[in-house]
Amino acid sequence: MALLKPTHFKHEVPVLFHEPHVEGGFRPLHQPWGYYLASLFQRHNECLNTWTHLIALVMTLQRLYEFSQEFDLLYDPYMWPLLAGMITMILLYIGSSGAHCFQSRSELVHYTCFMVDYAGIGLYGLGSTILHYAYCSDPWLFSFMKHLYLPVAIFLSILVCVCCSISKTMYQRPYPFTRKVWQLASVILVYTWLILPVVHRLLICLETSQWDNSISHHLQQMVWFITSGFFFGSDIPQRFYPGKFDFLGHSHQLFHFCVMMTSYKQLDSVLLDIKQFENQIRARPMPSFFSTTGAVVFVSFANTLVVMAFREYVKRSHVSSSKKQNGCQNGIKHDKNS
Ligand SMILES: [Zn+2]
Repeated sequence: MALLKPTHFKHEVPVLFHEPHVEGGFRPLHQPWGYYLASLFQRHNECLNTWTHLIALVMTLQRLYEFSQEFDLLYDPYMWPLLAGMITMILLYIGSSGAHCFQSRSELVHYTCFMVDYAGIGLYGLGSTILHYAYCSDPWLFSFMKHLYLPVAIFLSILVCVCCSISKTMYQRPYPFTRKVWQLASVILVYTWLILPVVHRLLICLETSQWDNSISHHLQQMVWFITSGFFFGSDIPQRFYPGKFDFLGHSHQLFHFCVMMTSYKQLDSVLLDIKQFENQIRARPMPSFFSTTGAVVFVSFANTLVVMAFREYVKRSHVSSSKKQNGCQNGIKHDKNS
């Protein structure tokens, strides 16, 4: 195992690796891969960002095991949407924890890691759309949307990866407002699409005053998602006490925790909907490989191409110009902010 190295203060690492209001705990660049893996057990400013989504990964795998005991995930096509949704959660958490674990290795690795993270976010958007339309949608909405929800979800999932990669690679400080638009617009679009069946169900419940078992869990997953957006965008609490939350309590860790709770409550609500609407669900057209795991494979492939294309762009523009400018210390004039 590689030896652990002391961490650095902000001024000792390139601007690209800076986080707003984080003053220390930066791992050194250009170490062997094993060092970054071993640093899971070191105190640094990405440690808990990695652990929060590693724990989420273990929790999702545990739920996958539980569901596999209750449902036939492989041979019952009506359970394929559940399998596809869970695969995207697993990929999201692998991509996110891997990004935070290894991003400090170099500028190119940093860009690549976070673009893989964005690819995972796009995939999770697809998986959630498949889950909600298959199990949580009202019969009228499902029949109205049955030919539309998947192609739109595929398009939006790839769009998330493209737009977030543009926001990461094309802008420099001081950031223009358009950078935020690239970041937020595609995520809001895919979330609107994936949550539409749930909101429609809520409206029906409000209208009829009949609340079914899963609605409170759906409400909780929405509250956790909105809270995650608050922490992602606010830099709270570290903006009030710069340097005090570098290791524990940073807003990105709280954002990760909220994402974990979103997916956890989402699975609670989906499970209840599968049980209470089983007859309705089995009366719908049988899901196919292409409308479930096949779509996940397709978007994984497309997002891999997107990441590779932007990685090439970064290699040619940012990394080469940074080397020319000053060797390394203050390389690319970007902030991480991802
Ligand atoms: Zn993250």
